[in-house]
Amino acid sequence: MDHITTNHIERKAYAKINLGLDVLRRRSDGYHEVKMIMQTVDIWDRLTFKPAETPGIELSADDKTLPLGKDNLICRAAELLMEEKGIRQGVKITLEKNIPVAAGMAGGSTDAAAVFHGLNELFGLSMDMEEMKRLGVRIGADVPYCIMGGTALSEGIGEILTPLPAPPQCVLVVAKPDCNVSTKFVYENLHADTLKEHPDIDGMVLAIRKGSLEGITGRLGNVLETVTAKAYPVIEEIKRKMKEEGAWNALMSGSGPTVFGMFRERESAQAAAEGIKNAGLARQVFVTRFYPDRQ
Ligand code: ATP
Repeated sequence: MDHITTNHIERKAYAKINLGLDVLRRRSDGYHEVKMIMQTVDIWDRLTFKPAETPGIELSADDKTLPLGKDNLICRAAELLMEEKGIRQGVKITLEKNIPVAAGMAGGSTDAAAVFHGLNELFGLSMDMEEMKRLGVRIGADVPYCIMGGTALSEGIGEILTPLPAPPQCVLVVAKPDCNVSTKFVYENLHADTLKEHPDIDGMVLAIRKGSLEGITGRLGNVLETVTAKAYPVIEEIKRKMKEEGAWNALMSGSGPTVFGMFRERESAQAAAEGIKNAGLARQVFVTRFYPDRQ
C-alpha cells in the first residue's frame, strides 16, 4: 500500500508515575507478574513527524546521550509499524527530551507510544487503540498503557489494562536523583516470593473510583523500593524531605530512582522542590500535576 503524505505532525508523549506497584510472582519464563496503578503526569517529551524524500527512519534528538539508531524505542516502534503497514515513504522524527531518562517514568515507552499515534495520523492509517496496543506490546510491556494514557490498573506483565477515573487533582513534586537505574537490575535483584509486605492495590483502585485523595495517599506503596532504595539511600532522603515539607506521602516510581510527593498546596510543593535542589539530592525536579484532569 502506498501512503503518500506531506503533513507535519506534533505529539506530546507524557511520563507516568506508579501510585502503587506490586509484584505477585516471577513466572517460569523470567517475566514478573505485576499489579500496578499507572498515572500520567504533566511532564512530556515533544515528538515531531515529517515525511522524508528518502526511505527509512531518521531520528534527531536534543539529548545527545540517547542512541539514535535501532536502540532507540522510537526507531523500533516506527520500523515495526511501517513494516506491518507496508509504508515505503521515509519519515523524519525529532525528539525534544524532557522526561528524565532511566528513571522509572516510562520515558522510552511513552515515546514509542507517541510514534504509533503520530504515524497513524501522518500516514492516515486509521488504526484504533486496540490495534496500536497489540503492536505496542511487541516493543515493551508498558507501551500499551502509554498508548492509552490516563489512570489504569495494569496486570499480567503490564499488558492487561483496566482504565480508571483520574484521581482528584493535587500538586506533585517529581525528583530524579542523579543515579541511573536499570529496570533489569532491579527485577533481577527482587525476591518476589519472600516479600513481607504488599501494597493494597485493590484498596487503591476503590479509593480512585471513589475520588478519595486520602484513600490514595494512605496506600502509596512500591515493592521495588526494597531493591532500589537499598542500593541508593538518596531515595529515602528525598522522601523524608518531601514529608518534612508537608507532603501527604511520597513514593518511588517504577523501578526508580525517581521519587514523587503528593502535596495539598503549591507553596509547600515549591518549597520542597527548592529544598531538594539546594540540598543536592536531585537536579531534575518538577512541580507538576496529574494529566489529564478528573472529569
Ligand atoms: P521504565 O519506567 O519503563 O522502566 P525508564 O524511565 O526506567 O523506563 P527509559 O527512560 O525508558 O527508562 O530509558 C531506559 C534506557 O532506554 C535508557 O538507558 C536509554 O538509553 C534507552 N532508550 C531507548 N529509547 C529511548 C527513548 N526514546 N527515551 C529514553 N531512553 C531511551
